[in-house]
Amino acid sequence: MRRWFSTVRTGLSRALKDYKDSAGSAAPPRSGSPGEAMKLEELVDTALVRKARAAIHSRDDETFAEQLRIATIAAPTGEERARAAYIARRFVSMGLVNTTIDRVGNVLGTLPGWGCEPGADHSPVVVSAHLDTIFPVGTPINLRREENRVYAPGITDNSRGVAALLRVAETLIETDCRLRHPLVFVATVGEEGLGDLRGVKYLFRRGSGFEETAAFIAIDGAGSTRIIHSAIGARRLRFTIVGSGGHSWGDRGMASPSIAMGAAIARLVELAPDRGSAVNAGRLGGGTSVNAIPSDCWCEVDLRARNGGRLEVLERQTRELFEEATREETRRSGWGVPLECRVERIGDRPCGETPAGNPLVCAAVAATRFLGETPDLGASSTDANVPISLGIPAIAIGAGGYGGGVHTHSEWYDNTNGARGIERALLITLAAAGLRPVDQLSVARASTTE
Ligand SMILES: [Zn+2]
Repeated sequence: MRRWFSTVRTGLSRALKDYKDSAGSAAPPRSGSPGEAMKLEELVDTALVRKARAAIHSRDDETFAEQLRIATIAAPTGEERARAAYIARRFVSMGLVNTTIDRVGNVLGTLPGWGCEPGADHSPVVVSAHLDTIFPVGTPINLRREENRVYAPGITDNSRGVAALLRVAETLIETDCRLRHPLVFVATVGEEGLGDLRGVKYLFRRGSGFEETAAFIAIDGAGSTRIIHSAIGARRLRFTIVGSGGHSWGDRGMASPSIAMGAAIARLVELAPDRGSAVNAGRLGGGTSVNAIPSDCWCEVDLRARNGGRLEVLERQTRELFEEATREETRRSGWGVPLECRVERIGDRPCGETPAGNPLVCAAVAATRFLGETPDLGASSTDANVPISLGIPAIAIGAGGYGGGVHTHSEWYDNTNGARGIERALLITLAAAGLRPVDQLSVARASTTE
């Protein structure tokens, strides 16, 4: 533990670009040490785990109240500081050790493992939830209740995940769980929008000590069935088409950046004809007046695919398409300054997969079934993308209850079966981090005395 933590500290001075050098391509997932610690059926019958599960249920209202409190602290991507400060205070007050806010704004707190006891494993298990929301600075946050639902921006994504993270940590501390691996709880920044997984990329930067992570579990949004083990990769490109601009009548016929941009966007759909990839023109703008040919206009494009090769092809085709549309418009016009197409890569989310047979995914499937739900293995783009791309077993799961309207102003959350999702997160965490043998032995004692 001490060795690992000092590595973390010395690694803090390294820059984010180190990560980029190391995370360029998806590595095959490691199979490894957590495997032997991941026998869920052995865990669920221990006195300690029963106590922990009961605590989660008895404090369901408190967890829900915490979620509402978190939702009222604004945390737009890049502006997570206030919410991070609150979470850091909670980490300290519940008794996590080495609580720190790192250089990019992630909040970290540790539940030490066995330390020097025989059988201890110093590689950390990480449980995370992202702090940020897609809602910009100044968005009013009014909680509105309607029957079982509470409406508020970010109430599900990811106030629920952060509240679940706190409940899992607090439950493990209160039940005095001692684990084979040190367990690091991380509230991350920059998961949404143009945050580009900034927090989790910084966490896993080269030299951080987290390259040795045994398992990574992201808690994101609501639900008790989804297990995201496949990481959808994304590339975000910002295209700007530039010309001289002019008067809509006086310069009629001049090459127009907006006409070129429109033609390029209209052809984007041709690039993703199947459901294995996606293209989206998410934001666009430019120009100064309705009666002026714009001198520039811009568009932000989001490209997604399950595998890196497909993503590379999509990016190349998209660049070619915008460049071709720019040349065509210059040709059509035949006069004025030739248009110029500039492109900037504004986001890169790596892809990959933790195989369905990996012990972490198997533990998640077993925990879901144990709680009476049907596991739903799926693909998405989450904080887990980064560890998955580095070959670290990683998944993302929901935090119980039900949610909808995510990323819209009518986002809602319903706490029916909310505790079930947190129990699931706790069981998966315990399976990954491993209980010490003395606690596992309490199975026999528990079953003979109860
Ligand atoms: Zn989310």
